[in-house]
Amino acid sequence: MSANLAGAHYPVAVVGGGQAGLSVSYCLRERGIEHVVIEANRVGHEWRERRWDTFCLVTPNWQCRLPGFPYSGPDPDGFMARDEIVRYLEDYVSFFAPPLVEGVTVTRLRRAVTGTFELSTTAGDLTADQVVVAAGPYHTPSIPRMAERLPSEVTQLHSSRYRSPDRLPAGAVLVVGTGQSGCQIAEDLHLAGRQVHLAVGGAPRVARFYRGRDCVAWLDDMGHYAKGIDAFADADAVRMRVNHYVTGRGGGRDIDLRAFARDGMRLYGRLTGIDGTALEFADDLKGNLDHADAVAEGIKDAIDAHIDAHGIRAPAEPRYVPVWEPSEQPHDRDLRQAGITSVIWSTGFTRDHRWMEIPAFDGRGYPMHWRGATGCPGLYFLGLPWQYSWGSGRFEAVGRDAEFLAGHIDAARRLADVCGALTGAPASLASALPVG
Ligand SMILES: Cc1cc2nc3c(=O)[nH]c(=O)nc-3n(C[C@H](O)[C@H](O)[C@H](O)COP(=O)(O)OP(=O)(O)OC[C@H]3O[C@@H](n4cnc5c(N)ncnc54)[C@H](O)[C@@H]3O)c2cc1C
Repeated sequence: MSANLAGAHYPVAVVGGGQAGLSVSYCLRERGIEHVVIEANRVGHEWRERRWDTFCLVTPNWQCRLPGFPYSGPDPDGFMARDEIVRYLEDYVSFFAPPLVEGVTVTRLRRAVTGTFELSTTAGDLTADQVVVAAGPYHTPSIPRMAERLPSEVTQLHSSRYRSPDRLPAGAVLVVGTGQSGCQIAEDLHLAGRQVHLAVGGAPRVARFYRGRDCVAWLDDMGHYAKGIDAFADADAVRMRVNHYVTGRGGGRDIDLRAFARDGMRLYGRLTGIDGTALEFADDLKGNLDHADAVAEGIKDAIDAHIDAHGIRAPAEPRYVPVWEPSEQPHDRDLRQAGITSVIWSTGFTRDHRWMEIPAFDGRGYPMHWRGATGCPGLYFLGLPWQYSWGSGRFEAVGRDAEFLAGHIDAARRLADVCGALTGAPASLASALPVG
């Protein structure tokens, strides 16, 4: 599609051409709704540019169910590697040829009094009756301010910039954070023979397999991925939950930090301070390891109960026995003495919606929405973690959310047509009517 958008008007503009933007584009096309998808980079950018070389999905391939294009490769129970994920998205584009403009950034979004959305872009200004913001959930690398106090000779980078062990200077590596990225990067370095020091946080873990199946498959059967956010009394807290750590590497396996420690990795509690070359850690290593195991074992309890309740034949499996216990809780470590030459901040991301000049956010900057539809009529979000269900921010359920929003957008347009016919109001104003 032409990259000159100046003066164009679309019934719907989709901002972002990742899996979320493409999914809603497919659903809009199915309904015959004209639209444009504006992507700042290239399709697959996030996976292509912000994941390490050995990255692979944590969720099994069968959960990749983009609308009209579910995973159909030879390994549904496997875990696509980074380049295969990029190819899956590129193949999706070839499959339905969305009206996609790549290399164009939306720099400002406003809503005129007529209800029309005004989008400023690097390829000119355009307008739209409705807008879907599918700009991803992970915008700005979040690095604690204490990073500024690291000695200048230490190489430091955020997990989104880590690629492989051999691109780091020789020496030991401190990985800060044990969410999905931190655990997998620590494993990557450990397997490459690097001395790893790992600051362990409070993330839970899940076993990869239990009683003959992937735990994700059991949890799917048990309805965990279908459960909507409105079924939780503490929806806000659920949205803030950290994902369980586990890996899809090598066909899928547990990430057992205790086993890493037994094999030479140095574990600490949370990193709480940096003073010169001295690193300070909280007293929570044992508690964090115990918590992660308790969550993993609790999930197994739930699977056992499900198996019993439904009379399912599944092989018995012995429970996890900790293979290592911290004998002491190291509170500090000298960087130089430990030979640490690089630090990888696996400390997550924050959102950046400053380009949206629309009051659609709560006091913490989180979009106010129900299933992606905001209080600003005609404005939608797609791809937020827990937008509606556990799989919302992932391949598993982004398609379901896209389908829901496309229906909403379609209904708003139909209503606009009726109102326009009755009152003569322009489509932009009429399609701004809220739909139930
Ligand atoms: C380390 C990590 C591991 C993950 N593992 C899994 C997994 O195993 N399984 C799984 O299902 N999910 C996983 N996810 C979650 C999720 O699938 C990805 O984050 C995915 O990239 C989200 O897709 P998206 O389309 O919502 O957003 P993104 O992929 O971030 O796409 C958004 C797009 O919008 C574009 N954009 C942003 N702002 C603008 C703008 N102003 N104008 C124009 N374009 C813009 C960006 O260039 C980008 O291409 C993981 C995420 C991370 C970070």
